[in-house]
Amino acid sequence: MQEDKACLPFWKGFRVADLQVEPALVRVLLHPDDPASLCCGRCGRPATGLHEQIDRSIRDLPMLGRTVWLQVQLRRVCCGHCGTGMQQVAWLDRHARMTRRLAQAVALWCAKLPVKHVAAMFELHWSTVREIHRRRLRQFIEALPEPQPRRLVMDEFALHKGHRYASVVLDADTRRVLWIGQGRSRAAVRPFFESLGPVGCERIEAVAMDMNTAFDLEVRRHCPQARIVYDLFHVVAKYGREVISRVRVDAANRLRQDKPARRVIKQSHWLLLRNRANLKVHEQVRLDEVLAANQPLLTVYVMAEQLKSLWRATCPEPVQNFVFEA
Ligand SMILES: [Zn+2]
Repeated sequence: MQEDKACLPFWKGFRVADLQVEPALVRVLLHPDDPASLCCGRCGRPATGLHEQIDRSIRDLPMLGRTVWLQVQLRRVCCGHCGTGMQQVAWLDRHARMTRRLAQAVALWCAKLPVKHVAAMFELHWSTVREIHRRRLRQFIEALPEPQPRRLVMDEFALHKGHRYASVVLDADTRRVLWIGQGRSRAAVRPFFESLGPVGCERIEAVAMDMNTAFDLEVRRHCPQARIVYDLFHVVAKYGREVISRVRVDAANRLRQDKPARRVIKQSHWLLLRNRANLKVHEQVRLDEVLAANQPLLTVYVMAEQLKSLWRATCPEPVQNFVFEA
């Protein structure tokens, strides 16, 4: 390819000196367009001299279904302000091994697909993709306004499949994660309230949480005005574990003489705990049979449904008495 003819708009400041299309990749050799107009990569001022030339391999967006490698002749330049440094390139960040537009495309895809998939799609190492994704998330978070939460959600989650735990605090209204820390004790979550400060703590109106942790004590200490709300998921799970399962075991024990009936009860564990709407038709039929044959189980099952409806109620009157009806 002729050096003086190959001017493409993609790589501003450079011209295509050579282009090779291979079965799986495209190699593009880029030479500086006008060495006289070089600028300092740090401050953007015109360079006062040329220090050295560096050849660098840089990935760009795929082209013609092929991976694109640019072989770029970059210059280290002298700057009256910064000393020596790499020249400014409009489409390349300092020290980057890929073009800005490739990094942008990777970041955009990371918002939709797992890092592993994006890495496979662009034929990049997953750690490179993860770093781009992290950088983008960091920029996104830094651009967010300072959070002013009024209602919080606190929860814990297991690290490395159990034994070690971490705690997380969210803004219930914006669903933004405000804080994450190791452990689930009172002391573990204390730094969050300390970082919130007295004014921030005073602003908190309500905190949703599960029923098994020390969170409520710590909330009462820092935000005495806040209402503690045990969230539906944890309450229903606890009710399932401690009430429904208990009644089910008692029912099975009473049927010690009737082996087939006993087996039906014992096997109904998940049927009773799962959301009825998520059961298949034949599972719903089995559940109905179990409930029809066991009055105590039916009672606690109906009470579970009523318990859930407490959280969906929009005013107190209709739900004030119904828990005792069953
Ligand atoms: Zn400079």
